[in-house]
Amino acid sequence: AWSIRLDGASVTYPNGTTALKDVSLTIAPGEMVSIVGLSGSGKSTLIRTINGLVPVTAGTVEVGPHTVSSLSGRALRSLRGDVGMIFQAFNLAERVDVYRNTLVGRFARSHPLRTLLGIPSPEDRRIALAALDAVGMLEKVWTRAGSLSGGQKQRVAIARALSQEPHVMLADEPVASLDPPTAHAVMNELVTLNAERGLTVLVNLHLMDLARDYTTRMIGLRAGEIVYDGPAASATDAD
Ligand code: ADP
Ligand code: ADP
Repeated sequence: AWSIRLDGASVTYPNGTTALKDVSLTIAPGEMVSIVGLSGSGKSTLIRTINGLVPVTAGTVEVGPHTVSSLSGRALRSLRGDVGMIFQAFNLAERVDVYRNTLVGRFARSHPLRTLLGIPSPEDRRIALAALDAVGMLEKVWTRAGSLSGGQKQRVAIARALSQEPHVMLADEPVASLDPPTAHAVMNELVTLNAERGLTVLVNLHLMDLARDYTTRMIGLRAGEIVYDGPAASATDAD
């Protein structure tokens, strides 16, 4: 697993909004960390700087051996292959079956222009099916993603990310659109990946309860600045 390091990272969007202000933090390999804050506090921006989806306008971002903030083009695409990402809205291809959606995680690196149509190698197939098995979705392998429940979609999105064999897993509000029991099940899935594979996990959450229950370290953001960084279990709403 990889570490994550931000040093004096700031993001100002082209329209002048400063979403992140001088953020410095270090996450060790294998940590399970939440970022908590109100809507608009910069959680999504922070997570997107780590896979280079949002460029920092000052400071540096490092992931494992790479300085993300100085990569571009092919090197940046290759880095994204090493960083798994899941989203609030799942971002699956709804008309396509679970198997093809999962293979996208493998093809993102090897055939970037053929993510839904590439021909899987035996190894691609083995890894995609193992990822579906790990999240309990193997029996839905031929189901169209669009006909799954929200919780099932997020499990497939996790399998897609796992089939990249990532060194880090980023999750941007992964349970915000799920009902509470389903949200707990998906959080448990992330805890298992962290515990069993030693994967570094960084997850944005707007509910502090989930952060306390499922992560060990919490980073609180307010208006783009870190206002808390410590044990999740002892964080209070005042932080
Ligand atoms: P969230 O609060 O869950 O991150 P938003 O509704 O704020 O979601 O953002 C949805 C999308 O719109 C994101 O891709 C975000 O980067 C983009 N976005 C948010 N605010 C702005 C803005 N002021 N101008 C342009 N794009 C924005
Ligand atoms: P959160 O994930 O905590 O809701 P975001 O990182 O989405 O926070 O947003 C932080 C701030 O940056 C907000 O003011 C939001 O409107 C703004 N923002 C987000 N994305 C964009 C964008 N693409 N362009 C301009 N402003 C944006």
